[in-house]
Amino acid sequence: MSQPFSTVDRRQVLQGIGAATLAAAAPRALRAQNRSDVVVIGAGLSGLAAALILQEAGLNVRVIEGRQRVGGRVLSYRSLPGSPEAGGTSFGPGYARLVDAARTHGVGLVNLGPVLRYYGQRELFLDGEHVPASAWADHPRNPFPAAARETLPWRFMGGFLAQNNPLKTTDAWVDPAHADLDVSLFDFLKSRGLSDEIINLTYNVEPTHGSSAHDVSALMMLFVTSFIGAQRALAVPGQAPFLTAEGGNQAIPEAMAAALSNEVELGRSVEAIRSEDDQAEVHCTDGQVYKADRVVCTVPCSVLRRIKLDPILTGPQARAVQTLDSQIINQAHMVAKSPFWEKDGIDPNIFSDGLVCSLVAEHKAKDPAEVSSLTAWIRGHDAALLDQMPTDQAKAAIIADIERMRPAAKGQLEIVEYKSWYRDPFSSGDWAVWQPGQVSTLAAQLAAPNGRIHFCGEHTAISNRGMEGAMESGERAAFEVLSAA
Ligand SMILES: Cc1cc2nc3c(=O)[nH]c(=O)nc-3n(C[C@H](O)[C@H](O)[C@H](O)COP(=O)(O)OP(=O)(O)OC[C@H]3O[C@@H](n4cnc5c(N)ncnc54)[C@H](O)[C@@H]3O)c2cc1C
Repeated sequence: MSQPFSTVDRRQVLQGIGAATLAAAAPRALRAQNRSDVVVIGAGLSGLAAALILQEAGLNVRVIEGRQRVGGRVLSYRSLPGSPEAGGTSFGPGYARLVDAARTHGVGLVNLGPVLRYYGQRELFLDGEHVPASAWADHPRNPFPAAARETLPWRFMGGFLAQNNPLKTTDAWVDPAHADLDVSLFDFLKSRGLSDEIINLTYNVEPTHGSSAHDVSALMMLFVTSFIGAQRALAVPGQAPFLTAEGGNQAIPEAMAAALSNEVELGRSVEAIRSEDDQAEVHCTDGQVYKADRVVCTVPCSVLRRIKLDPILTGPQARAVQTLDSQIINQAHMVAKSPFWEKDGIDPNIFSDGLVCSLVAEHKAKDPAEVSSLTAWIRGHDAALLDQMPTDQAKAAIIADIERMRPAAKGQLEIVEYKSWYRDPFSSGDWAVWQPGQVSTLAAQLAAPNGRIHFCGEHTAISNRGMEGAMESGERAAFEVLSAA
């Protein structure tokens, strides 16, 4: 995997740039209260990573955040046993920046090795009916050719993409040489011999990106595949490639925020950003105005397109911000009044072509075997359907879907937390979803600075995805600011 700097190199570079910047900044002693060297919009991982680097370089940094909490799309539900994750779920030892941030700021890490086997097993439900693994090979809905008929649907796509991935490095997806792969995932899979039935069952039923294989770029999915492969390769031999943070992953951004000299200003929702010749201004919906030499804006495109920018964006960058979508995902976090899975005698985890495409039994208690809570995932078109319902109706639909599949669960589930990432105005969805044709035409321009405004966030990451992508992008934006100062 290609990464711009190792941790050690990064610190050395930072010291060099920081010294020069400090010298330049020294005469500017007293400042009005609402003026700083840099304003960072958003206290998610990318914003906090950028702010800490800029602070380390000696700049006066102010982080403003629309929500009443830090962490952004990293959200741990402490109201439930084991603090299950509603956002950034897990990460690997290869998440160098995130792991470094946890260590630097005193957050303990939990290796998921001992509980991994509980997450691997799933029960298959098609049209509401349970299909035992032993009956799958001969089942009429099994679309696989003879050699693959034992394969369970959720085990297929990752391996198939890995075997058919021409990208050699994680950043190769933005190389114009691969523009021919910027077609729909569906077309890519068909050209590699998969049937419509296989694509439907192994991707559309539980779409990780978009709502179906038709509306996502194969190039982006191959990037995802390369990143997962690189993470596996970087895992410590003999240890599981999955980690979480003690107390929930949100503990990492919280500890990063606590290391800032200026406290994060919560509840400041930005509505406009202006870049002028000698300064930049950030306007909030409550009338507060912040002034700074530079602004780092971390919000996803689905939110950025509602923020007024002056000067306006133009060309491919404007098109990217207006059209790059964010994944629609809803989750219900539940506790079970009784272990209904002991009553119906099958694993609590579900893969289904119904509303709840995935039910996950969390194992976050002291005893690894104990089910601490259950998480229902709803994605794509089904999540969009729930978003049209009042919350109570959406919750009832989720419970009804599970009870239909598993009568033993009747009356046993209580939804403690329900999250629609799309209906959350500070994210308007989950991770960025590149549609066919968007990568090759828009990706190169997406993060270009607009005057004194610099952009970052996981959607602008080149070599990493998810939480590590956010950290990578924050680091890149911080160095951009330092080189511009
Ligand atoms: C359900 C789910 C599962 C995930 N699973 C994983 C996983 O297993 N592994 C992984 O690596 N990643 C995962 N991710 C992705 C990961 O959490 C994100 O990529 C990452 O946290 C994004 O960080 P960011 O800083 O780019 O954006 P954000 O965290 O969204 O930060 C942007 C910040 O800006 C703030 N903001 C937005 N608008 C405004 C405004 N107008 N004014 C002021 N502030 C504003 C937001 O409140 C937010 O705090 C998952 C995400 C979700 C939602």
